[in-house]
Amino acid sequence: MARAYIERHIHTLTLAHACFQLGARMRTTSHITGMSHAELCKFYLPGESAFHAGRLPASPDWLMAKTNCLDRAELSVFAAILQRVLAQDIAPGDALVGAYRLYAGSCAVQPRVSFDRAFDVACHLKGIWTHRTASIALYACPRCDSYNLSSMGDEKLLNRGCVFCRLLARYEKDPRVRAGFPKRRRPGPSSRASGLPRILAGA
Ligand SMILES: [Zn+2]
Repeated sequence: MARAYIERHIHTLTLAHACFQLGARMRTTSHITGMSHAELCKFYLPGESAFHAGRLPASPDWLMAKTNCLDRAELSVFAAILQRVLAQDIAPGDALVGAYRLYAGSCAVQPRVSFDRAFDVACHLKGIWTHRTASIALYACPRCDSYNLSSMGDEKLLNRGCVFCRLLARYEKDPRVRAGFPKRRRPGPSSRASGLPRILAGA
């Protein structure tokens, strides 16, 4: 049954506020909710700095070339969580907010993926909001079975191992890797998204 207008409006405002609480830029919130900048500005006073300014990255280059192993691993973890949430037939905006909360809740330290970057992953992965077609995809590494985010059609690059394979090899020597992926007794949401946390959890 279709929602009444007032229910849709309240839902949209709730979604906008959730985006704000997760640190979204105004442009990101506008794309997700369909609300204009002017509409969004009505709900926050000028001094509240509710929305960050700035441009969104337009191409997936930042994903492939301008990130380190830990960043790329967390981007893949987030994308795998998002894929699972979207498979539950949840609307994209709600799925993005829910997936981001799951991802952030699974991080042992400060999340490396911001909400704006998570939004951009969703756009490139699913061909929604700012993009009409998908340009990146999740591919399973043939060595460790982890899901990796990569340019569409680049799955053969994983034949020699993936970012999770490299992090696992560095695990005992690199405190940053151990801090980002601590060994756990019980696998959390991210452990379902990639093989590395599952391996570290001893599952
Ligand atoms: Zn691998």
